[in-house]
Amino acid sequence: MMARRLFLFALLVAALVAASVWLAERPGQVTVHWQGWRVDTSVPVLLVAMLTFMVLVAVVTRFVAAVVSAPGRFLARRREKRRRRGYAALSDGLAAVAIGDRKAAGKLARQADKLLADPQLTGLLTAQAAELSGDEDEAERRLKTMVERPQTALLGLKGLLALAQRRGDHGAALDYARRAWAMGVPAQDLAEALFRLQAGAGQWVEAEVTLDEARKRRAMKPEDIRHLSALVQLERSLQVERDGDPAAALSLALKAHQADFTLVEASARAARLLHRAGKDRKALAVIVTTWQVAPHPHLVEACIALAPAETPLQRVKRLEKLVKANPDAADGHVALAEAALAAKLWGQARNHLELAAKLRPSAGTFFLLARLEREERQDEAAAQAWMAKATTAPAEPAWHCHACGRPADGWASACPACGAFDALDWRQPAVALLPV
Ligand SMILES: [Zn+2]
Repeated sequence: MMARRLFLFALLVAALVAASVWLAERPGQVTVHWQGWRVDTSVPVLLVAMLTFMVLVAVVTRFVAAVVSAPGRFLARRREKRRRRGYAALSDGLAAVAIGDRKAAGKLARQADKLLADPQLTGLLTAQAAELSGDEDEAERRLKTMVERPQTALLGLKGLLALAQRRGDHGAALDYARRAWAMGVPAQDLAEALFRLQAGAGQWVEAEVTLDEARKRRAMKPEDIRHLSALVQLERSLQVERDGDPAAALSLALKAHQADFTLVEASARAARLLHRAGKDRKALAVIVTTWQVAPHPHLVEACIALAPAETPLQRVKRLEKLVKANPDAADGHVALAEAALAAKLWGQARNHLELAAKLRPSAGTFFLLARLEREERQDEAAAQAWMAKATTAPAEPAWHCHACGRPADGWASACPACGAFDALDWRQPAVALLPV
């Protein structure tokens, strides 16, 4: 590098010397007349003067250009720096939101917002930071700006949906869920949220359309869709029966039963409507199908309701068939024991009560054992022993809401206490009965 420069310099000096010699060998005079002035000089001097003038002009031009463009370059560098700091604040802010650091999230959101000056871009962070700090109005405002930009619209709508649900504003939530779902994404949470909002509003036909669309988009598991679809058919069956159309009610109840065999209420309902239509054989088949997968006292009641006037002995025969269809169901043994008690078939009653007590110990079963001791043997002491046992035994199974934990008198698609959809489970309460 150094050698090359030295060489170039030497070359330049040589050229200058050569040029000087060449000029010295060719002397000449130049006279300039201008505005009453006269300048006499030699050609080399003139050439040197011109060269000096050109170099001076070039230096001044470059200097002026540098001075003029300086503020622009300075601003561009500053803008670039702000942009980099803005993006850093944006990503750090999102990280702070993810770990729930309210203070840092708020500070970084304000920074990103100021540095980037693009509310749609920083909307997610500022909305989440506002939510973290409990400023729901600000969060809503920010989320609404996100909806205006196609790339962030879905995220904005989902944020607005969650906000409306937290506020308990079902109307607004339904509107946001519908708009987000209409964007065509296969999001499971969105499909479920929309379905539940429609179900909560009693919009069963719309809810069914949502399930169909979820099936097409593969947004939900097929078994979940079948179960929810069964609930919709069941509710529609209730509705049309109230409107005075038992035939349509039966058809819908059967559809519900076929969509989900485990749905006790659909089966019991279909059996009742079939019995009313004179189709007892089919009614029994429906009951037994569900009884085998989801035994429940309602199914025993539905079975008994098929022949309310039969003799105790006939009832024992009928319930024997039910017990045989699912020998592991405690409710079958209890029902058969009660029928045997009524028919004074003591041995059979004792047999099934003991089986029931083994399968699922409960106060009800011990009360029946006490009754058996009194009626068969008039053994008050033995009866008292069973009664004592009943006071500490688990209570009978009942419907409980898994959303709010409260018990419900009967089954409903929505919890009567908190309104949660599809939240009632049939289970034995963990707490024992208090001593009486
Ligand atoms: Zn509830």
